[in-house]
Amino acid sequence: MSFIKIIPCLSDNYAYIIRDEHTNKNILVDAPEHKPIEKYLDEKALSLDFILITHHHSDHIDGVNYLKNKYSPKIIGASRDKHRLPPLDIEVEEGKQLSIGSKTFNIYDVDGHTVGHIAYALLEDKVLFTGDSLMVMGCGRLFEGTPDDMWKSLRKLKQLPKDTMIYSGHEYTRSNIEFALTVDPQNDKLKARKVKELEKLANGSPTVPATLGEELDTNPFLRESEPSIVDHMNTKNQDPVSRFAKIRALKDNF
Ligand code: ZN
Ligand code: FE
Repeated sequence: MSFIKIIPCLSDNYAYIIRDEHTNKNILVDAPEHKPIEKYLDEKALSLDFILITHHHSDHIDGVNYLKNKYSPKIIGASRDKHRLPPLDIEVEEGKQLSIGSKTFNIYDVDGHTVGHIAYALLEDKVLFTGDSLMVMGCGRLFEGTPDDMWKSLRKLKQLPKDTMIYSGHEYTRSNIEFALTVDPQNDKLKARKVKELEKLANGSPTVPATLGEELDTNPFLRESEPSIVDHMNTKNQDPVSRFAKIRALKDNF
């Protein structure tokens, strides 16, 4: 979507700048480092008015202090994780909307990768910022949460409209595709998507955003109970969370 600028950071992170066309305010999602973000803002002579933080890991917050000092944005993050986030100007929680500029965000708790991780949705624009929860053809590693936590988080995001655009925190798609094919080798949509995504990567283009519909068709972490995957993984007698856990554990060692 044209009002969202993708800013590659560090080796494989993405930050995003949402431009609010009605108020000319700029909203950054995550600050893995300050340099590429500062460069973009200064080249375009833009203000930075808000920073949304998805979770506490350094590769999502290391740029916050510098950007706060230079541009004085308001810092926004999860109330329940504030003890380990940079000082927050606005605390958010699931179930309460966040209105900044002309934009209204819905907040979702998406525990699993960490506990206290949140996702931000602009439902009107059909855009979702997932950090390290749902990723393009994958999901974040479980550092703090349980498989049950992540499965519930993903189930929540699965309910959004299929044309929702997913903006995730990393470019991990190349490895995610190869892994997905080991879990879901008969999936023709997955094979077709591999060609499409590898072409983007070969051109140096990001694979974000992806639609939720594409993810539902090809992301094994959203498809643990698909008959073809259950068959291939030999998980017929398991519950969905155990099926998910098995796929996640395989990915950890992939
Ligand atoms: Zn992380
Ligand atoms: Fe990360």
